[in-house]
Amino acid sequence: MDIIYMDNNATTRVAPEVLDAMLPYLKDFYGNASSMHSFGGLVGREIAAAREKIAALINADPDEIIFTSCGTESDSTAINAAIRSNPRKKHILTTRVEHPAVKNLYEYLAQNGYRVTWVPVDKEGTLDLNYLFSHLTEDTALVSVMWANNESGVVFPIDELAEKLRGKGIVFHSDAVQAVGKVPVDVKRIGLDMMSLSGHKIHASKGVGVLYVKKGTKFSPFMIGGHQEKNRRGGTENVASIIGLGQASELAMDHLEEMDTRIRAMRDRLEIGLMQNIPNALLNGKKDSRLPNTTNISFEYVEGEAILLMMDQLGICASSGSACTSGSLEPSHVLRAMGVPFTAAHGSIRFSLSTYNTEKEVDFVVENLPPIIERLRTMSPFWKAGACSLQ
Ligand code: PLP
Repeated sequence: MDIIYMDNNATTRVAPEVLDAMLPYLKDFYGNASSMHSFGGLVGREIAAAREKIAALINADPDEIIFTSCGTESDSTAINAAIRSNPRKKHILTTRVEHPAVKNLYEYLAQNGYRVTWVPVDKEGTLDLNYLFSHLTEDTALVSVMWANNESGVVFPIDELAEKLRGKGIVFHSDAVQAVGKVPVDVKRIGLDMMSLSGHKIHASKGVGVLYVKKGTKFSPFMIGGHQEKNRRGGTENVASIIGLGQASELAMDHLEEMDTRIRAMRDRLEIGLMQNIPNALLNGKKDSRLPNTTNISFEYVEGEAILLMMDQLGICASSGSACTSGSLEPSHVLRAMGVPFTAAHGSIRFSLSTYNTEKEVDFVVENLPPIIERLRTMSPFWKAGACSLQ
């Protein structure tokens, strides 16, 4: 059975070009970049080249790039650095729809001496900017707002935020793990202080991430150890993955236009096909300000997990917007923040495409999902009771 992989916001396939770039650094060039010998020096030069490539993708200076192990480490490093560099300020601000990599750390900080403001979103998943700006205080150390939401795909106005926060003595961090490679990201133009990204979301391997830190931003390391990354992140570099990420960054730059054209068109074809062929389907996320590869649709009166299992039997991989918590299915915090009706939030499915998807795959899903939903609804007591009205 062929796999139809439409779960690229969860993780992506390692691009063949990336794997080719990585292999020599797993097989032959295994030197340590910190060693004095030329065998290690060669590796150091390749890491420097990869740093230039990732810097070019986001228009940063290579010195502003710190390699980490993942997006989560980048987020933790940024948030910890920001609060440590402003120890007297005790207010931090974020959104109600951040990834757990940010959300759970903010929750931890809320229990450890920080006052946290959680900025709400509306039912289309867009951020309440007035709420955000009206809650900034003299005591605010940090604002952390994701660039694009991993579930709804909604893109936040990072440029407007950066502009309004400039000169206020507040560190502005953005988790751009889902944005980089899908929409243009230009840190020089935007002027934010710190930004996180992750290799495995852009066809590099797992185990590598990046934290961008604008020149002049106060910084203290999270991983304290050796002198790697100019004393900003201790630990021997994950050489092959870093070199792969350099290659993936070049590919991402080449594919940006395709994201906005072919992949966007495939996403729209999928979305329209499903919405037209399945009654009581609700689109989650503001239609015209989403990542071009993402669609999140709720199918009322069915369980997302059941849909996933039945799609899985056909080789279709996607994600649901609910997760099993203590034996019951709970809609995600993102869908709850958006106020998606309970009956719909349970049956939410996120499809996230990549350059490796084809129109044929899209058509396969459009043909095969409607009968799955119909079959599941025949088993749903709520659907049978005729309670099928979506707001
Ligand atoms: N931030 C966002 C928005 C994400 O979607 C993810 C992963 O799904 C992360 C952070 C965490 O990245 P990583 O898996 O590299 O730790």
